[in-house]
Amino acid sequence: MSASLATVSYIGATILFILSLGGLSNPESSRRGNVYGIIGMTIAVLATILGPRVSGGGIAWIIMAMAIGGSVGLYAARKVQMTQMPELVALMHSLVGLAACTVGFASYIDPSIEFTGAEKTIHEVEIYLGILIGAVTFSGSVIAFGKLSGKIGGKPMLLPGRHWMNLVGLLLVIWLCREFLHAETIGGGAVPLVLMTFIALLFGVHMVMAIGGADMPVVVSMLNSYSGWAAAATGFMLSNDLLIVTGALVGSSGAILSYIMCRAMNRNFISVIAGGFGTGGGEAAKPGEQPAGEVTPISAVETAELLLEAKNVIIVPGYGMAVAQAQHTVYEITSHLRAKGINVRFGIHPVAGRMPGHMNVLLAEAKVPYDIVMEMDELNDDFPNTDVAIVIGANDIVNPAAQEDPTSPIAGMPVLEVWKAKTSIVMKRSMASGYAGVDNPLFYKENNRMLFGDAKKMLEEVLVAIMA
Ligand code: NDP
Repeated sequence: MSASLATVSYIGATILFILSLGGLSNPESSRRGNVYGIIGMTIAVLATILGPRVSGGGIAWIIMAMAIGGSVGLYAARKVQMTQMPELVALMHSLVGLAACTVGFASYIDPSIEFTGAEKTIHEVEIYLGILIGAVTFSGSVIAFGKLSGKIGGKPMLLPGRHWMNLVGLLLVIWLCREFLHAETIGGGAVPLVLMTFIALLFGVHMVMAIGGADMPVVVSMLNSYSGWAAAATGFMLSNDLLIVTGALVGSSGAILSYIMCRAMNRNFISVIAGGFGTGGGEAAKPGEQPAGEVTPISAVETAELLLEAKNVIIVPGYGMAVAQAQHTVYEITSHLRAKGINVRFGIHPVAGRMPGHMNVLLAEAKVPYDIVMEMDELNDDFPNTDVAIVIGANDIVNPAAQEDPTSPIAGMPVLEVWKAKTSIVMKRSMASGYAGVDNPLFYKENNRMLFGDAKKMLEEVLVAIMA
């Protein structure tokens, strides 16, 4: 393939990536967005492999690597449960970081690159930044994977003087950059480069270890952004325009998503990165701790009766609906209630579940119409006019302590105000706390009922009772 055809293909792929991002911003156009992304990536890969920069012998290696990587990816994607998706995403970000590091080192020792003067300095700055961002992304994402999969505890690790440690690390990285750029020989530059990589790896571990469980959604999207910038830095190293543009698209969209999530959780982005959230004065529920009040249980049949008597119903799904895979039964119940003229809507919290858009994906999969799936802000004022608010496997996102208890670790996080409905029904298996590990006073409110059991099983019983 000629250089100009490769360039045209890159431009086409860039346009498709932009269209893909546009499509992904809305559930109705997200499938189309995915298709644009797939076509764009296929064009990008083909144009790179067949382009002028890959020689005949190299293609065999590339195809071999793609076959191995592609098979691992295919296997992982087929095997992963929907609830494990954030872990997979974190692991994938770590690979982007690792790739940026290895490309950086390879670029540094590549004997065919012979820049001099300003060009040499620019190339070395690209290498240094690429490895720096790549190493932070790599180790940070590995820790995020560990935390999300429960292999590492969710509690923030707060070392004494941690901000000072970060500051010293930053100053060292700047000093090492100076040493790297002024090194006379290859060997001389390698030492500061390796030392900086080591500091960056430690910084990535420290940064994510210091962030508490409740802030993990922001961390996942922040690492997504970092992986984009790492890819962009790799693009500069390899003088690959498409990689620069694609990296910048991922980097900036991840940054925007992090900002939106912080706003949705009423958190300051800097304080999330500084870490420590989740260790406030509030009492975290300890495993096996006795409930802090009386709860009123309800049966599936009584739940069905309340639903059939209602005019307005709001369903609030959470992580438990994903675990139970109850979305299809939810859809069935919704259809039956709507057929009886009952106004049923869904209230979606921006951090419900374990990844951005988790609930929207599940509800779309179950064919719930988009127009009854509302954002938290769109219907939070409607709860006082709602007869039944039914919470399916959600906990933190409906916790009134966020508003009522300033000492709570989740104080200030906007929540769906289900307790303002005439009756709220919480469907979960036990009194266990949610992801943030805090007790939920909603369970003890007078107008709240608890429907204990696996969400799918209980909803199936409710469905049978509705149809009876
Ligand atoms: P939570 O984790 O707060 O609560 C989920 C509840 O579901 C649990 O209390 C659990 O109770 C219940 N549950 C689990 N399995 C089942 C089942 N089979 N049937 C019925 N109930 C079940 O989830 P939310 O969606 O309310 O909140 C999301 C939390 O996750 C927030 O703290 C958010 O910050 C965090 N987070 C969000 C991410 C995102 O991007 N959206 C990413 C990472 C974290 P029980 O065990 O008693 O059944």
